[in-house]
Amino acid sequence: MQHIVVVGGGFAGVATAHELDRSSKRHGIRVTLINRQNYMLFTPMLPEVASGSLDMRDIAQPLRAGLHAGQFELGDAIGIDQTARTISLRHPLTHECKAVEYDELVLALGSTSSTLGIPGVEKFTLALDTIADAIQIRNRVLGALEVAAKTEDLIERDRLLRFVVVGGGFTGVEAAGELRGFLGSVLKYYSEIEPSAVELVLVESGHELLAHLPSKFGKSAAASLSRRGVRINLGDSVAAADGHGLELKNGTRFESRTIVWSAGVEPAPLVKNLGLETNEHGAVKVNGDFSVRGAQHLWAVGDCAAVPRPKGGTYAPLAQNATREGPLLARNILASLKGRATRNFRYKELGQMASLGDRQAVAELPGGRMLSGKPAWILWRAYYLSRLPGWNRKARVAMDWSLEMVFSRGVGRLPLIEESATSFEESHALSG
Ligand SMILES: Cc1cc2nc3c(=O)[nH]c(=O)nc-3n(C[C@H](O)[C@H](O)[C@H](O)COP(=O)(O)OP(=O)(O)OC[C@H]3O[C@@H](n4cnc5c(N)ncnc54)[C@H](O)[C@@H]3O)c2cc1C
Repeated sequence: MQHIVVVGGGFAGVATAHELDRSSKRHGIRVTLINRQNYMLFTPMLPEVASGSLDMRDIAQPLRAGLHAGQFELGDAIGIDQTARTISLRHPLTHECKAVEYDELVLALGSTSSTLGIPGVEKFTLALDTIADAIQIRNRVLGALEVAAKTEDLIERDRLLRFVVVGGGFTGVEAAGELRGFLGSVLKYYSEIEPSAVELVLVESGHELLAHLPSKFGKSAAASLSRRGVRINLGDSVAAADGHGLELKNGTRFESRTIVWSAGVEPAPLVKNLGLETNEHGAVKVNGDFSVRGAQHLWAVGDCAAVPRPKGGTYAPLAQNATREGPLLARNILASLKGRATRNFRYKELGQMASLGDRQAVAELPGGRMLSGKPAWILWRAYYLSRLPGWNRKARVAMDWSLEMVFSRGVGRLPLIEESATSFEESHALSG
């Protein structure tokens, strides 16, 4: 029985594994899905967890629940031996290592925020890639308000009350919009803070927001955010960040204790160490059918892969592309196992949407038409609700959204509980 291993349980990996799982009996294959968390993260709603509109459990879909004949393996992939056809895993809780044999291996490792090599960014800014990041951002904002409410140091107070988001792409624009909504909702609990003393700045190095869309979208997003008091700083990039703020290349300085970094993405770190051919962004070069160039029995999909478009260029690192790529990759693997021809990926994006917080959004409709404001926000919510995996999760999110319309958001800072590896090692030793 051929063993197909998919490493990475995000949009692309799950779509691939589910399609393989469905046909595993018919094709006589075994499927294993590996991920470093036991859930799939629905990233488009991460800014809403950071702003307290959604509960973190709403956007985490358990991976074990989606597989029927297939197996799930909790593990951090640390290396691949292409000759022996094994992938090395380290268990994130026990730290035990093991090698898993494969006949075909799919890399669906996704991407992470890139610091772009700018000094101080890694140490002094907050990324928005994981649930822990979202909670940390929410905690940092609430912590800054708590301290600002009590401090008599006016310089420090100004720093605490300035919030900076770097990056005018989807993630940055959504993070700024959600943060604005969050501040608007919680400031009433801080009678010591004059709302006009709070500043939210969105920094983008280019000359418009959402630069990958026609410029009317960026203009509409900028107008909506500015109307709600977001200061938009275009046309200069960050030179460095430090514990007190950040500095732009033109010398402008923003004093701030809270800087959210979403200025770019790069493929997951493991990709760099595999010795595969990559493009200028570090993504694995694949053929149109997702087979990795210059390798055998290896496929790559989603954000970590540079999937060629038929007319040149590559598909953008987007959830909607990753979700569409997975099923075709699964069929291509099955075809190649049977010695049949594979097919190249072809997909025309349906359009894109960015939520701007406070019931505002901007959406690109098929044909390049634009929808903005509340209708776009309703479309954004309806679309992402429909894309959420499982009725359970859809119901939870719909419930949270309904409650949020009636009640204001909480101001409790949530503890970030670190898992104790030692206790897992100890309990493992005792039981085994
Ligand atoms: C805040 C935010 C908002 C976004 N909003 C949108 C949006 O509105 N619309 C849109 O289309 N796209 C959006 N995106 C982009 C979208 O999330 C990605 O394009 C999509 O997740 C890519 O899917 P993927 O399967 O390639 O990677 P991912 O979904 O990132 O999945 C990769 C998986 O691999 C795991 N992994 C990585 N390395 C290892 C390893 N060594 N061992 C084991 N497991 C590993 C990761 O933990 C993860 O579970 C957003 C992204 C972010 C961060």
